[in-house]
Amino acid sequence: MDVADLAQLQNEQLDALRVGAHKPVAPQADGKCLWCGEVLADGRRWCDAACRDEWERAERCRAVRGA
Ligand SMILES: [Zn+2]
Repeated sequence: MDVADLAQLQNEQLDALRVGAHKPVAPQADGKCLWCGEVLADGRRWCDAACRDEWERAERCRAVRGA
């Protein structure tokens, strides 16, 4: 990916955020952090806000790129 692609991607992500599209939908909790795989207590999907934010960012990126 070059700089132009990155800029394009960021613009698309900003547009998606602006219109509220591509809000990532997290799957059900499965006892492990969705981002780092750490074992968690029942009903939790991430260790903390940092893992959640990273996961959401990655999900948005995936949705925008259509991959
Ligand atoms: Zn985690």
